Amino acid sequence: MIYADNAATTALSPKALSVLVHHAKNTWGNPSSLYAHGQEAKEVLEQARTQIARCIGAKEREIIFTSGGSEADNQAILSAAAWGKQKGKRHIVSSAFEHHAVLHTLQKLEKEGFEVTYLDVHADGLVRPEEVKAAIREDTCLVSIMYANNEIGTIQPIGEIGAICREKKVLFHTDAVQAIGHIPVNVVTDQVDMLSASAHKFHGPKGVGFLYVRQGVPVRSLIEGGAQERGRRAGTENVPGIGAMAAALQEAASHMDENARHLKAMQARLIEGLSRIPHGALNGDRDRRLPGNVSFCFEGIEGEALLLLLDDKGICASSGSACTSGSLDPSHVLLAIGRVHDVAHGSLRLSLGEDVTEEEIDYIIACVGEVVAYLRSFSPLWRDLEAGKKAFIL
Ligand SMILES: *Cc1c(COP(=O)(O)O)cnc(C)c1O
Repeated sequence: MIYADNAATTALSPKALSVLVHHAKNTWGNPSSLYAHGQEAKEVLEQARTQIARCIGAKEREIIFTSGGSEADNQAILSAAAWGKQKGKRHIVSSAFEHHAVLHTLQKLEKEGFEVTYLDVHADGLVRPEEVKAAIREDTCLVSIMYANNEIGTIQPIGEIGAICREKKVLFHTDAVQAIGHIPVNVVTDQVDMLSASAHKFHGPKGVGFLYVRQGVPVRSLIEGGAQERGRRAGTENVPGIGAMAAALQEAASHMDENARHLKAMQARLIEGLSRIPHGALNGDRDRRLPGNVSFCFEGIEGEALLLLLDDKGICASSGSACTSGSLDPSHVLLAIGRVHDVAHGSLRLSLGEDVTEEEIDYIIACVGEVVAYLRSFSPLWRDLEAGKKAFIL
């Protein structure tokens, strides 16, 4: 099997697995208990907090452990909205291609009387900092722009947006779930106030993540209960998961450069190979993208059929985000970069793992070429395109 869906989730690293098992077996005390067995668990939590904080340039107390990226996104946005409401600021700036954990939270706020400006991400899949600046108003409480997109992999100019928000005194949140562990992120130089991350996107376990909240930024717990995480996230902490997350992040951080170098070479080979398929195109900017992400649209086919046939050949890929798979609507991300419905339906996302080989890349290229040609051979849409009844777009 070739696993090329690392944007959906990643395999647990052997190191993270051993830490997970070790703490599940040995450090199962409640971190809030005062006897030594509880305090050992507390020690695991605090060590993990220190390790994670160091990886992103934060202070220990600025890290809140959550159940993952979705919870972190919800907490960041709802906290900023609650603060804004108190100040009479009910306007939020975001983008059209955020993850659903962000978009659906914003939609909920819109129903409660907030106004949201969804910025265009242009054909290259990039938000323009000057458009962020122009969208900020007197009553803006929050800007939320993702670090790197989960479908097309484009990396946003987060540092520039952060500087604008700091200058305008508006809170800035970034969903960095796809970026953390893969590209360098520093909350100080990027000037972010809140940042979401999820362990299972960097070879840690599922169901655990963290929210960075800059000291002094108002944050509230989504969950009523105990005083864990300094009252900012109730519930007994997932000690084994958190320990494993820190181990996975440290590992990712210490191999980031070599991983990125290898992935960029594999990415270039894959993009070049897939570009030889006629009437297809890369989605998003060629260079400002995550090192492992390759996203294409092919005209005249259905992405879902392509995935199933690739699965038969032992290749795990995606048509966009795992969250929209199973629905017939084309991806909101591809529509946001201006792909028309027919084209957006023929999408393929390959998100490579660090251990992918040249041989595997060549196998993927051959299989995609073969399957696209096969699907086109009986596609009514392709027949119309070839007959000139419809115009090719790509
Ligand atoms: C995966 C993902 C999430 C959700 O994270 P979970 O830990 O699965 O809840 C949020 N945002 C982005 C960009 C993601 O890729």
